[in-house]
Amino acid sequence: MRVCTVKLKRQYIPCVANAYQSPFMAFTGVSSLSQTQDSILNVSGEVTACTKCRLSETRTKAVPGEGMKTAKVMFVGEAPGEQEDVQGRPFVGAAGKLLTELLASIGLNRADVYITNVVKCRPPNNRPPRKDEAKACRPYLNRQIVLIAPRIICPMGNSAIHSLIETDKTVTDLHGIAFEIGSVTYFPMYHPAAALYTFQLRKTLEEDFRKLRALLDSLSA
Ligand code: URA
Ligand code: SF4
Repeated sequence: MRVCTVKLKRQYIPCVANAYQSPFMAFTGVSSLSQTQDSILNVSGEVTACTKCRLSETRTKAVPGEGMKTAKVMFVGEAPGEQEDVQGRPFVGAAGKLLTELLASIGLNRADVYITNVVKCRPPNNRPPRKDEAKACRPYLNRQIVLIAPRIICPMGNSAIHSLIETDKTVTDLHGIAFEIGSVTYFPMYHPAAALYTFQLRKTLEEDFRKLRALLDSLSA
């Protein structure tokens, strides 16, 4: 496995245990916590009703994420688009169709993995999420990561990469490179939307999915 020198944004996800405990303990004062005191269902319910940032005013439906609660692989995109906003489900438009096909190409179903976004509500006209919106939404992603405890996290595209990893490198430099931080292996990829109309990027994404398959196989070997 090629190991990269970029750093995880430790202030956001110090490690699975700390990410869970620090914010939660600050509120409750409870000293011994287990992951069972929070649940993916709780997170999804809170996201659905959330009004913590201005995106709640323009969204149709919030999009918490979906998939297997014990998934080994988690895919993280930027923010919901038009179709996702209507259906309340992640990656169900054109980019989602490609993601579903790429998963199938390595023998995976959407139900075998967990799919979500950094920001859970659609920004108007698909503008990039603003810093304060990403910050307000961040605890939900942190809780999802802790609860699902995936072995591999695939940030897709620069937005997701830069919200999880401290680096000035871009997806062009980092895609298809696995690097381990604590118990998690990060495996950045191009965003499927970027590959929709560019043949070469699509080939690269297909190749990166084959590498992901090999990575998964090496974990369960
Ligand atoms: N693009 C994203 O980043 N996320 C989605 O859910 C859909 C498109
Ligand atoms: Fe809440 Fe996140 Fe939606 Fe903002 S984007 S309203 S923080 S769920």
